[in-house]
Amino acid sequence: MAARGRSLGGMRGLATVPSYVVMQPTTLCNLDCAYCYLPFRAADRQMPVAVAEAVAASVNRWAATDRFSVVWHGGEPLAAGRERLAALMAPFGPEVEHHVQTNATLIDDAWCEFFARHRMRVSVSVDGPRERNGERVTRAGRPAYDRIVRGVAALRRHGLPFSALAVVNDPSPGRATELYDYFLDLGCEVLGVNIEETEGVNTRDNAHAAPAVTGFWAELVSAWRRDPRIHLREVEWSLRYAAAVLDGTADDLLPGRLDPIPTVAYDGSVVVLSPELAGFTDSRYGDFSSGSVLTTPLHTILAAAERTTWVGEFIDGVEACRSSCPYFGFCGGGHAANRYFELGRFDGTETEHCRNSKIRLLEGVLEHARDHQSPGA
Ligand code: SF4
Repeated sequence: MAARGRSLGGMRGLATVPSYVVMQPTTLCNLDCAYCYLPFRAADRQMPVAVAEAVAASVNRWAATDRFSVVWHGGEPLAAGRERLAALMAPFGPEVEHHVQTNATLIDDAWCEFFARHRMRVSVSVDGPRERNGERVTRAGRPAYDRIVRGVAALRRHGLPFSALAVVNDPSPGRATELYDYFLDLGCEVLGVNIEETEGVNTRDNAHAAPAVTGFWAELVSAWRRDPRIHLREVEWSLRYAAAVLDGTADDLLPGRLDPIPTVAYDGSVVVLSPELAGFTDSRYGDFSSGSVLTTPLHTILAAAERTTWVGEFIDGVEACRSSCPYFGFCGGGHAANRYFELGRFDGTETEHCRNSKIRLLEGVLEHARDHQSPGA
């Protein structure tokens, strides 16, 4: 099913216009999850409005011609407070879509009214039933699950649709069914599933036996097919790719250039491709930043971002994937932060992350298809 990387086009270099921008209103998070990658989550470093104004000057131009989103990410973005978040959102024009990725613990009626008033789309981080959320704890080390569930209940009370993001650190048999059934009950519209990643300050090993991870994804497809009410992000990507391979159009699926996905940190510094790199420094790559919106317009930073040392090295890594990996047409060459935190550089190819979340995902979908072939097909 996976086409040989060498023959594939797509994804050469960085696009200069992103499809969305990630904004960090504060570095602070009110939780202290064991697998979190954020280095400054105990500190409340807040984004000044001048940073949002500078970003909006570029974003409003892009949103005038195409659909465009701002994703408020953290820290915990709601820890910035409604007044500050509203002040940061104010410079953006009415056509800009706002999304927020939240741990849900601070969501109450007032926040729900805020989301509705600002037509903000909400995605909550929750890892499944109570016993799977042992890693999600408050700063005092107490389980956060009841507070997460209270936040989700407020969203439901207000009739606000929401997405969910779950981290899985133990892809053992039965987990995928349990996970999917849980999110059916929770009532989310879209679900993203991440196998835990080794990145940022989370240095825990993420290597798993191949059959366990492939089996996890195959089981998730089975659970979803029984009741496909939820848009299951990873499975839908895989099925789209599989259909394109069968149609002979797989080469057209990847965009011509990589989406730079700029993350604008609280202080206005811009890190492209991987929010997880923001806040880190390295003797070879510096602070990974391609510039600051306080001194240079965002569109100018992005036009020159390929010249950032590590970005150039990453693009070499994508080309290495293209010429060596049979999964390139599906994956597009992986995630910069995973290469850096796993391999210590950007021009390598395979990582545990891409094995868990790209290669074994696609293999799992195929395993499911093989197991459910009709006799004689
Ligand atoms: S990141 Fe991994 S799966 Fe993706 S193209 Fe590169 S080697 Fe293949």
